[in-house]
Amino acid sequence: MTKYVSLETIHALYDLGVRDFGESRPQSLWTRAPLLPDDVRWHFIGRWQTNKVKRTLPLIALAHSVDSWHLAERVSQESVKLGLVTPILVEVLLSGEESKAGFDPEELATTWHKLRELPGLNPRGLMTMAAESGDPEDARPTFRQLRELRDELCQQTGVPGGLPFLSMGMSQDFEQAIEEGATHVRVGSALFEGENT
Ligand SMILES: *Cc1c(COP(=O)(O)O)cnc(C)c1O
Repeated sequence: MTKYVSLETIHALYDLGVRDFGESRPQSLWTRAPLLPDDVRWHFIGRWQTNKVKRTLPLIALAHSVDSWHLAERVSQESVKLGLVTPILVEVLLSGEESKAGFDPEELATTWHKLRELPGLNPRGLMTMAAESGDPEDARPTFRQLRELRDELCQQTGVPGGLPFLSMGMSQDFEQAIEEGATHVRVGSALFEGENT
């Protein structure tokens, strides 16, 4: 996650061969993406405001945080208008924290067939945020639930392996996330401790 770091750091990482960068603010993405080479894969991991979807979609390789039906519809509509098929991860709220966003897991299981029918979207997997805690092991059940939900949705749609990606785990708990099947960890502060921006 490059949201904490300067543009110079991103260029330096690029020179070292890093090609996947994650941003959580649309404006940062808009200003940074044009300044880096085209082979960078930008990941959008933050909250979307619907009025920022249109400008963000053409820049990203993967939208991690599609967290409501309303947003999914918006991303679908704008993708169709732009002639894009946007790869998305559907964010699921498993921590029970009211302050966080995401689909309720049961709601997702029942609306999944409708979501798959939205044009312009290519659902590639699921994303979640674990509850904050002093002990990274506390996040493990959340990560496991995300994997099980993914397996259930694949079974429902009869496409084994149809949702290959699980975006889960941050600086605190990425090891537990990887053990539970994460394909994308969103690590920020652990990599960039001491970096001033
Ligand atoms: C910032 C951010 C991260 C990275 O958090 P760290 O604890 O700094 O690793 C992961 N996911 C999301 C959605 C974020 O906004």
